[in-house]
Amino acid sequence: MKSAPKKEKFLDRLADENGVAIVVVDAEGNEASASNNNSMCRSLYASKEFAPECAKFCGRAFDMAVKAGKTVEYDCYAGLSCKAVPVWEGNKQFVAIVGRTFLKAERYRTATENAISGEWRQFRPTEFFENVLISGSSQSIETVAKRLEKFSDPKRNDILELDRLQVAPIPKPNLPIEEPAAAAQPEPGDINQLIEKFKADTEKAADDLEAAVSDEVQQDRKAAAEWRSLFGSLMKLEYREACSTVLTYLKEQYSFDSLVWLEARGEKLEKFVAIGELDNKSIKIGIGPNNARLTDAARREVPVEFRERRKDKDGGEGVRTLSLFPVTIGGEIRGAIGIDSPVKDAEQKRHISRFAQTLASQLEILRLRDEVARRDWLSRAVIKFNKNLRRIDAEDFWLRITQVSAELLGAERASILVKNEKSNSLQAKAAIGSRINLLSEPIVGTRVAGKILEIGNPVVVADIAGVGIDLAPAEWSYKTQSFLSYPIIIDDRRIGVLNFTDKAGGSVFNKADLELLQAIAPQIAVAIDRTALKDKAGAYEQLSVTDPLTGLLNRRYLEERIAEEIVRSKRHRFSLSLMMLDVDDFKSYNDRYGHPAGDSALRIVAEILRETLRGADVAARYGGEEFAILLPQTSSEEAAQIGERIRKKIERAEVANRTVTASIGIASCSNEVDSPKDLISAADVALYAAKNHGRNNVQIFNAWGESINNVH
Ligand code: GH3
Ligand code: MG
Ligand code: MG
Repeated sequence: MKSAPKKEKFLDRLADENGVAIVVVDAEGNEASASNNNSMCRSLYASKEFAPECAKFCGRAFDMAVKAGKTVEYDCYAGLSCKAVPVWEGNKQFVAIVGRTFLKAERYRTATENAISGEWRQFRPTEFFENVLISGSSQSIETVAKRLEKFSDPKRNDILELDRLQVAPIPKPNLPIEEPAAAAQPEPGDINQLIEKFKADTEKAADDLEAAVSDEVQQDRKAAAEWRSLFGSLMKLEYREACSTVLTYLKEQYSFDSLVWLEARGEKLEKFVAIGELDNKSIKIGIGPNNARLTDAARREVPVEFRERRKDKDGGEGVRTLSLFPVTIGGEIRGAIGIDSPVKDAEQKRHISRFAQTLASQLEILRLRDEVARRDWLSRAVIKFNKNLRRIDAEDFWLRITQVSAELLGAERASILVKNEKSNSLQAKAAIGSRINLLSEPIVGTRVAGKILEIGNPVVVADIAGVGIDLAPAEWSYKTQSFLSYPIIIDDRRIGVLNFTDKAGGSVFNKADLELLQAIAPQIAVAIDRTALKDKAGAYEQLSVTDPLTGLLNRRYLEERIAEEIVRSKRHRFSLSLMMLDVDDFKSYNDRYGHPAGDSALRIVAEILRETLRGADVAARYGGEEFAILLPQTSSEEAAQIGERIRKKIERAEVANRTVTASIGIASCSNEVDSPKDLISAADVALYAAKNHGRNNVQIFNAWGESINNVH
């Protein structure tokens, strides 16, 4: 006799089929069973910070449902919709939490934003988004809740097949609830008997389920099972691969020639991936995400057909049809599957339409997962870049900036060309990975870089041969024909061009590389501009801007720069901070150990400033034993952290004779503080407060209230 196929557990199947979570809890809040649980709930529930929030909703589900004596509905703080259904198994009361799905697109978008850049950032995206449940309507929650309400009767024989088989006598829940209507007392049997019964009931429940559905649904269920296994395999792929796999599946299933996956971008549907002939065409359809034709088609489970008259190969005219099956999330068009021929069969239309709908939420999760991973990667890359930028000093500025950005892009060769205002030509400032001496070659400006700077837009090229640019001379021996050129522009000034070639591993540069450069470009631009200013200072007035004792810039230069930086920070809405540092009790140091010893102590302080500060910061000796540091793109809190680092380093520095300390005052530009004079005096006020606080500490000026904030 053939053995019956292994049945999925009842709750697992119910949850899977309807795309909802079913989590059964007991009076103590223990999970007796969890099917298709939402991964966000798992993460949130396991965290210290958010578990108390979960406790206010799902944590109270048992009490709420049992007290009400019926199904109750709630939306949790994470934006998930749930129903709590009182159920019995044997003599024990449980509550089944059904749903944990997002019913509205904007709710999960809020949640995603929260996970990408908000308070849920701490969770690993791969885990957090592993199984996010999204459904377009409350229908599925409703259906499952109704099914489970049959278990609300304690006398019912069916069992839910909870994961935990409760054998020991169960204590009555200690809750302020009415005694449930006379529960049938279980006959205490031995464990084997119970297991046998459990098995038999499982099979019975599954058989009941099979019998309860009509033929048509049976058929759909077969399709559904097939889809489920396809979806299961999709979850391991990246979004683009998954879309392409879906197209291939449809192609094979229905023998279509060519298919395209379109994505909604603004008011258009644009080609994302395609197979067959459509792969060679650019496809854009001018209908937006709220297009009534598409939403209506989605509801009616039919495609929208677009006809196009076009010349065929032999010169004759033909009409071609693109059948579009909308992919919607929460009623919003996210994309569409396009098939390069009319779909005639009504059954097929319905099938594909349903397929596209069922697919939508699964793919949306993949899309989000990719997005989160990418943003995560991008923000980590930018942080790393900024950190490296900090270590760059003026000496090898150009080389380092080229190295750091090349490293980030994985380019084996890179160069930076800067415009020489006088000769109006591009001059190579640094190059890495070149076999020729780029700096002495007159090549620059005639090729790509000049054009890029002229156009003012970056260019990513997969194959240089295809874009009508002269090939590089053979002796340059580039390994690949792909390059990326990025113009550096501040305001309207075209400063220079960064070039990257030979991407590691022989691959080609792509949009992601461009995006990465876009993220770091402002920092590069400001750093370059600053160096240019410094160079200028260096050329014309080296002597008059530096302080001879410490080599730092002097007060005059700093005051000029403050004015410039304030203008710049206002224009770009950057924050700008000023730090004033005064060595403590320095008179007594001088008096005891002599002026030369004092001088070397000041040099040590200057050295500490140099090594702690970032490329963009401007440190100056403001007077005697007082220093001023201008920190562009730095909030007062960040400046205070830097100040604290400097303070500690000075305290620990090996200065002859005795420990030297310094007090630090910090101020930032704001509506109240917006001129060089204001900024300096605000930082002075904070410095004065630091002295009053017993010296050797950092204070921030605060325009409101008490005017001073203690940093510690
Ligand atoms: P406070 O903690 O309040 O800042 O006390 P202080 O002694 O540092 O302050 P005060 O302004 O009374 O003294 C500053 C001293 O710094 C005076 C001078 O001896 C010393 N000083 C200023 N410029 C130089 C310099 O170029 N070289 C040396 N060696 N000492 C200097
Ligand atoms: Mg002083
Ligand atoms: Mg002093």
